[in-house]
Amino acid sequence: MHWLFGDQLGPHFAGPGEDGPARDAPLLMVEARSVFRRRRFHRAKAHLVLSAMRHRAAELGDRVTYVRAGTYREGLERAARGRPVTVHHPTSRRALRLVRGLPGVTVGPARGFLVPMADFAGWADGHGGRRLRQEDFYHWVRRGHGLLMDGGEPAGGRWNLDHDNREPPPRDTAALEVGRPYRPREDDIDDEVRHDLDRWERDGDVSFVGRDGPRLFPATRAEARRALRRFVTHRLATFGPYEDAMLAGDPVMSHSLLSSSLNLGLLDPAECVGEAEKAWRAGRAPLNSVEGFVRQIAGWREYVWQLYWYFGEDYRDSNALGHTAPLPDWWNDLDADAVRANCLRTVLAQVRDTGWTHHIPRLMILGSHALQRGWDPAAVTDWFHRCFVDGYDWVMLPNVVGMSQYADGGRMTTKPYTSGGAYVNRMSDLCGPCDYRPGDRTGAHACPYTAGYWAFLDRHRDLLAGNQRVARPVRQLDRLADLAEVREQERERGDAPP
Ligand code: FAD
Repeated sequence: MHWLFGDQLGPHFAGPGEDGPARDAPLLMVEARSVFRRRRFHRAKAHLVLSAMRHRAAELGDRVTYVRAGTYREGLERAARGRPVTVHHPTSRRALRLVRGLPGVTVGPARGFLVPMADFAGWADGHGGRRLRQEDFYHWVRRGHGLLMDGGEPAGGRWNLDHDNREPPPRDTAALEVGRPYRPREDDIDDEVRHDLDRWERDGDVSFVGRDGPRLFPATRAEARRALRRFVTHRLATFGPYEDAMLAGDPVMSHSLLSSSLNLGLLDPAECVGEAEKAWRAGRAPLNSVEGFVRQIAGWREYVWQLYWYFGEDYRDSNALGHTAPLPDWWNDLDADAVRANCLRTVLAQVRDTGWTHHIPRLMILGSHALQRGWDPAAVTDWFHRCFVDGYDWVMLPNVVGMSQYADGGRMTTKPYTSGGAYVNRMSDLCGPCDYRPGDRTGAHACPYTAGYWAFLDRHRDLLAGNQRVARPVRQLDRLADLAEVREQERERGDAPP
C-alpha cells in the first residue's frame, strides 16, 4: 500500500508514474494527534490541514484506509499490518527519519517540486564553494524547464523585471482595484473538524492560538484549481507592480494566496507557472507581473526547498548573531491589541485572524522586529511554523533562519533584512495614523523600527562592518549624536510590546 502524508494531497502524489503507486494501489493516510500536541499551532492552520486530509480521504473512498491515531507509527502498524508500504519522500527531516526507520517502508523520490534534489546538488556543487545565488538558480530552472523562454533567451530579453515592480502602494486608495481572491465555502467536513478541535481543546489535549473563523484557504484540489484560475484570470495582471507594498485595508492586494495549496500538495508548481505563462502568451497579463510570479514559485519556492535539504541538519541551529532572547508572551499569544505601533499591530492582527500575511509584512515587519530585539532564531522559526497556514519545516528554515534572521551569517542572503520606519512608511499606508514617527529615533514618538534598526547595527557593528551592503549605515553610527540615548531607550524597552 502507498502512504500519503497530509501535505501530499493532490493527484500527482497518488497517481502512477515513475516510482509512484500503481493506478489502483490501496492508499493509507494517518491523522496523528501527536503532530498537534507537539506545537501550539494556529487554529486556522490545524483546521485547514485536517479539513484537507479528510476531504481527500472522502474523495478517495474505499481506496484509502484513513487512520486516526496517537502517532504515525501506531497508525501505520494498525493499517498496514505488516504489508509493505511505499511513500514519497516526506517534506521534513523528522518525517524522513521516521519513514526510513520503519520496517517495510520504501521511500521514493519527492514530488511536488520542479527540480529533483540530485540535480540541485549537482548545480550547487558545481559552484565550487562560491556563494549560491537565488538569481543564478532561477535562470538555470527557467532554462531547464523552458519557462518564459524565447529560444535560448529570456522572454522580453531580460531575466528579471524587478525594476518595473516593487512600487509603493497607490497613495489615494485604501485598496488595490483588483478582483477579489477566491474564498471557499465550508461544508460538513469543516463542521466536523471544528467540532473535533473544540473537543480536543476542551479536553486539554491540545492548545491553539489565533482565530478559526470561516476557512479561507482551499482544502480540496477542486477549490485550489478554482483559486488558481481566479488568480490568473483576475489578479495576476496586477501582481508585479505592488508585490512589495502594504495597505492596511487590503492585506492581500494582488497576491495569489496559493502557498497553502501548493504546500498541501493540492497544486503542482508546474501547473501554476504554466498557467501564468499561458496568460502572458495570450496577452492577458503583462510580462512584469508574470515574470514576478514565476520567480516566486520557480525561483524562491524551489530554491528554499532545495536549500532545506542541501544545507544539512545543523542549519536549524545556526545562530551567527548569538541571539538568545525568548519570545515574549504578547508575541506568542498574537496579542495585537497590546501593540501601539500601527504596522506591527495591523500585521499581528492579520496573523491572529487569518494565519496569513504576505511576504513583506513577514520579512520587514514581523521578522525585522524579532531580529532587532535579538530573539532566539530557533524560537522565531518555530513561531512562524506554528502561526502560518502555509508553514512547514522545509519552508521555514531557509526563510526564517536564513532570510529573515540572518542566523546563518549570510549563507542565504547577502545582508540582514531589517530597516527603519522610513522603509515601512514608503511601502505602506501604515505610518500615517501611527503614534510613532518614522523619522524619530528617540523621544516619546520614536519609531520602534527606526530606533531598533540603529540599535541592531550598533550591537553587531563588528560583524557587519565588513559587509558591503550595510557598511555605509554602520559607518553612519559614529555620526549619530543620540546613539547613547538610542541604546538606553532600547534597553529600557526590553521585550515590551512597542
Ligand atoms: P505570492 O506572493 O502570491 O507568491 C506566489 C507563490 O510563491 C507563493 O504562493 C509561494 O508558494 C511562493 N513563494 C514566494 N516566495 C517564497 C519563499 N520565500 N519561500 C517559499 N515559497 C515562496 N512561504 C510559505 O509557503 N510558507 C511559509 O511558511 C513561509 N514563511 C515565510 C517566512 C518569512 C519570514 C518570509 C520572509 C517568507 C515566508 N514565506 C513562506 C514566503 C512567502 O512569504 C509566502 O509564500 C507568501 O507570502 C504566501 O502568499 P501567496 O501565496 O499570496 O504568495
